[in-house]
Amino acid sequence: MTKQQPLKKQMIIVTAPCWKCTEPFHLALIYGNVAIDSGQVYGPEKFTNEEIALAEMQGVIIRMHKSATRKDEYLANTCPHCNAFLGQFFHFEYFCGAIQYGDYSYKEIDL
Ligand SMILES: [Zn+2]
Repeated sequence: MTKQQPLKKQMIIVTAPCWKCTEPFHLALIYGNVAIDSGQVYGPEKFTNEEIALAEMQGVIIRMHKSATRKDEYLANTCPHCNAFLGQFFHFEYFCGAIQYGDYSYKEIDL
């Protein structure tokens, strides 16, 4: 069963194993329904300062990372154990793992 998407934007704080060191860490994603940002899921690279502060209050580590491919810097969810950052290509995988498959625990915060 697919969870119904909320009508407003929500931040979800997912607790999941790091893709690199497999230790559990917290990551923050924001998503809305199709009426908001086309239901897009995105991470700290597009958060406002308030959203970053909110995520950090939930124990999420958000750091600036250099992108080798894009040759620029952006904010990303970061593992506190091994310092690995969660690239944007991981967002949908962690999002589906939590919301659709129930593999990871998460909490929702209305924005
Ligand atoms: Zn790690």
